[in-house]
Amino acid sequence: MPLTLTVDRTRWQTHLRGLLEDVPGLVPVAKGNGYGFGLRMLATETARLGLRTLAVGVAQEVAAVRAGGFAGDVVVLNPWRPFDDAATALLDDSRIITTVSRAEDLRAVAASHAHARVIVEIETSMHRHGLRPDELSERDLADLTFEGWAVHLPASGSLEEAKRLASAALAVKRAPVWVSHLSVSDYRALRTALGVRTHMRIGTRLWLGEKRAYTTTATVLDLHRVRSGERLGYHQVKAPRDGWIVVVSGGTAHGVAMAAPTPQRSLRQRGVTVAQGVLDALGRSLSPFAIGGRKRAFAEPPHMHSSMVFVAGADAGVRIGDEVPVTARMTTVTADEVRMV
Ligand SMILES: *Cc1c(COP(=O)(O)O)cnc(C)c1O
Repeated sequence: MPLTLTVDRTRWQTHLRGLLEDVPGLVPVAKGNGYGFGLRMLATETARLGLRTLAVGVAQEVAAVRAGGFAGDVVVLNPWRPFDDAATALLDDSRIITTVSRAEDLRAVAASHAHARVIVEIETSMHRHGLRPDELSERDLADLTFEGWAVHLPASGSLEEAKRLASAALAVKRAPVWVSHLSVSDYRALRTALGVRTHMRIGTRLWLGEKRAYTTTATVLDLHRVRSGERLGYHQVKAPRDGWIVVVSGGTAHGVAMAAPTPQRSLRQRGVTVAQGVLDALGRSLSPFAIGGRKRAFAEPPHMHSSMVFVAGADAGVRIGDEVPVTARMTTVTADEVRMV
C-alpha cells in the first residue's frame, strides 16, 4: 500500500497559470525528485501550459522530462565540466541549452562543439558557480550559439545585484538574461531596466506555491497492541507505555523519515541519542505521521517502506486501511503514487 500524493488538479493548475501570467519569460525548473511530483509529471504539465522551455538540474534528468512528453528546449542548470560525459553528449542536441560557468570550459566547448547552445553563468554573491563577465570578450562567444547570461542569486536575491551583474554582462554582449530567485516585482523591474529578453527559472514557487493544492497521506498497514516495557521492532526497544504500534506506509525509501519537522538543533541531539542506542528517545522522536489530529512518535527508526509509530492508550484511533496525513517536505519526499483529483 502506497504513500500517496493527492493533487487538486484545478487548484494547482490555476496557481501555475496565475504565476505564469505574473512572470513573463518564466522557465519552470524540474529537477531532483521533481519537487515531490516527479520529473515526468512536471514535464507533462510544462507542455500543457504551452511553454517551450524547461530547466533541469543535471544532464541525467533530461531523459525523464522527454519521457514526460516535453519536446521543447531544455536548459541544464548545473554548469558543464569537461569530465561530465553525460553533459558532453548533450552538446550536440539542438534542443539542449548547456550552462557554462568557467572561461576555460567555454573555450573547450567552442573548440569541440562549435554551435552548441550555451548560457554563461555569472558569479553572484552565492559564490557557487560562475565567472566574471570581464573574463570574456565577445570573441569567446562568437563560435557558439550564445543564448544569454545566467544570474543565480541567493534565496531572496536583490534587484540591485541582479542589475549590476546583468549590466556588466550585457556590456560584453547584449543577449537574453536568465535569472533565478528574484521576487516577481524585482524581476519585472529588472526586465524593464535591462531592455533585453529575460527569463526567470522557478521551481519551488511554481510547483509548491499553492500549498492547499496537494497533500501527502500514508496508509495504515497494521496495528498491534503492546504493553508498557514490551520489546518491539528491529531494535527490540521497549514500548514506553501501554498502547498501539501503528504501522504506516512511508519509510526511508520515500525520504519521509528524514523529514521530521523539528529544528536542526533538536535533530542533532536526537541523532546523537539514536547513535548511542539509547532508544528511550521514544516518545520524543516525532514522526511526520499524524494520527488523531497530532503527529506521533516513531516507535523505532523508520524502515525502508514503512514506519512504526506509537499511539498511547486503549484506542489506536485508526483502522487498517485508513489514510493518515503526513507532513512531507516535498523536495525530499517521493510518493509511490500521485493521485489527481
Ligand atoms: C534549482 C534552481 C532554481 C530553482 O530553484 P527554486 O528555489 O526551486 O525555485 C533556479 N535556478 C537554478 C540555477 C537552480 O539550480
